[in-house]
Amino acid sequence: MHQIVILGGGTGGTLTANRLRRAYGWDEAHITVVDQDDAHVYQPGLLFVPFGLTQPEDIVRPRGRQLRHGIDYLTTGVDHVATDRREVVLADGMTLAYDALVVATGSVLAPEETEGLTGPGWMERVFTFYTPEGAAGLEAALDTFDQGRLVVNVVEMPIKCPVAPLEFCFLADWFLRERGVRDAVELAYATPLDGAFTKPVAAEHLGGMLADRGIELVTEFNTGEVDGTGGRLISYDEREIPFDLAVVIPAHNGAPCIGRSPGLGDELGFVPTDQHTLQSTVAPEVFAVGDAASLPISKAGSVTHFEGEVLVENVQRFLAGKPLDGSYDGHANCFIETGFHKAMLIDFNYDVEPLPGHFPGEVGLPLLKESHLNHLGKLMFQWVYWHSLLPGRDIPGIHSAMPTAGKKHAADT
Ligand SMILES: Cc1cc2nc3c(=O)[nH]c(=O)nc-3n(C[C@H](O)[C@H](O)[C@H](O)COP(=O)(O)OP(=O)(O)OC[C@H]3O[C@@H](n4cnc5c(N)ncnc54)[C@H](O)[C@@H]3O)c2cc1C
Repeated sequence: MHQIVILGGGTGGTLTANRLRRAYGWDEAHITVVDQDDAHVYQPGLLFVPFGLTQPEDIVRPRGRQLRHGIDYLTTGVDHVATDRREVVLADGMTLAYDALVVATGSVLAPEETEGLTGPGWMERVFTFYTPEGAAGLEAALDTFDQGRLVVNVVEMPIKCPVAPLEFCFLADWFLRERGVRDAVELAYATPLDGAFTKPVAAEHLGGMLADRGIELVTEFNTGEVDGTGGRLISYDEREIPFDLAVVIPAHNGAPCIGRSPGLGDELGFVPTDQHTLQSTVAPEVFAVGDAASLPISKAGSVTHFEGEVLVENVQRFLAGKPLDGSYDGHANCFIETGFHKAMLIDFNYDVEPLPGHFPGEVGLPLLKESHLNHLGKLMFQWVYWHSLLPGRDIPGIHSAMPTAGKKHAADT
């Protein structure tokens, strides 16, 4: 009987546990998931809360209920992992021995790392929509915001879903127009990147979309301080951006339990991981999935989903003493809500940047182009998340490997 322990019962932990449970007979593997709480938040839904398009309670479900029968679920904190003893030490001192460990502890927000961010003005004129409380507080603030400067700021990379702050800008533009106050509001987006996004083709498209909507783009802005009283973002190179309302995406770190585990994490608390097999480089029996893994790709639910397929195969191969499958190509896929009931879709991997065309083949959803169809896709994704992605079911036509049919390279256009 293999002992498989999964740390974290979010997107990655849940889909991995469910896929493994289906892969193994009950007498072949004992699977345990550990999470510190029982509230599974559909995080992409947080984007819609500030605009009154959904409520926090509509995007939360009990974690335990997302796990198949035959998976042990422990609601308790992980204190640390002793990789030398192949043992997880829980907050109550109990230990779990493992033959294979899957780290799926995600990333945590660290607003306290930025001077002033959680000081005066926090949750009054400085918010984040990356937590249910922050998103709900921002809804109330936006509702009465009729004039002034609204600034959206990414403090530093990496963050979860790097397109979410851009989506917030587009939705804010739409929301303020719907309310008839857009002309009285200046909108700005301040990012540490040198463009609107990391990849050149998408950065150009998204930068153009910000310009078309009259949203100022401030690049290479590394926030050193937030002055909530004076209404100023101050960068390390002493540039200032004034605001009346700030929407800040705080720095992200790996879960603190990784930092407490000798040798398991890098300097930010993410697990060094082979980018193709998802086996950690720390110990052969340790794997990492989702935001917890230190990989050169976006921290996103879609990435977590595509990684999960290869990771589950590799946990089985590892336990059977077989060579691992090195096929994860960095496939990532994001709907970008652009307002006015439209969205854009981008699909890329480690080597191929987001390109125009269609997904998943010659016929399908338009890529790098706003459409109503993509907006419907974004809305439908919540159902797919609870009913297909988390239970570990395959989604027809959508696989771990990035599809190339349907994509147009520069030479084709
Ligand atoms: C506003 C927002 C919008 C987003 N939009 C999109 C989108 O449109 N598309 C997309 O693909 N992705 C999106 N994402 C990103 C996506 O939600 C995450 O990348 C994904 O959930 C990562 O899954 P994970 O399993 O790695 O982490 P999580 O789902 O965050 O799970 C980590 C789990 O580990 C647990 N944990 C941590 N430490 C401990 C401990 N010490 N003990 C016990 N348990 C612990 C946590 O409680 C948590 O349940 C968005 C995220 C946000 C915040």
